[in-house]
Amino acid sequence: MNILLVEDDLDLASGLVKALRHEGFTVNHVTRGREAVLSVKAEPPDMVVLDLGLPDIDGLQVLKAIRSGRRSLPVLILTARDGLDDKVVALDTGADDYLSKPFEMEELLARLRVVARRLGTSQNSKIELHGVSLDTRHHQVLVNDLPIKLSRREYMLLMALMENSGRVQTKEMLEQKLYGWGEEVVSNAIEVHISNIRKKLPADFIKTVRGVGYSISKLRS
Ligand code: CA
Repeated sequence: MNILLVEDDLDLASGLVKALRHEGFTVNHVTRGREAVLSVKAEPPDMVVLDLGLPDIDGLQVLKAIRSGRRSLPVLILTARDGLDDKVVALDTGADDYLSKPFEMEELLARLRVVARRLGTSQNSKIELHGVSLDTRHHQVLVNDLPIKLSRREYMLLMALMENSGRVQTKEMLEQKLYGWGEEVVSNAIEVHISNIRKKLPADFIKTVRGVGYSISKLRS
């Protein structure tokens, strides 16, 4: 599940990114409204967590722009404005849910799980490719119907590749998905994870695209 987080408070954002990734969500973080609108167009997420007080354009403008393009994309508003009017305006503009700051991380996660479950009923939570099945709802990976153990980062890496099967993921894209900013990333971290995951998966499941990155083919080769 890909979440676009739009939040200009860097301390709050870094805590959120960590917590969301820990939950198994893939997070893309931007600090400005215009970036958010572009990002939704370029790489549509499954869900948006949107702060209203942004430095360039108001979060409600962002919400309107999102709604004009992708009507069904779930948006959870996060804001310091807790007046009833603001809530009503946000919901009328098309927000799916609303959380006032300060909030408990647990509450946000619980609400996102609700949205994820709702999506899960219309979207498939299982990705199956060449005998490998990844269940995003239960965080489980089966190889020929038998469960395998993956670390949190190995799981996230495999999910990123399987969600984007048929497309090459560069090392930089994968690093961004696996690590928060400010987090020290060893230069060969991705290679090490890939090598560990490969030991648990069918031979040749993850292909190396020399000098570019990694991919999993959509079709059986
Ligand atoms: Ca703000």
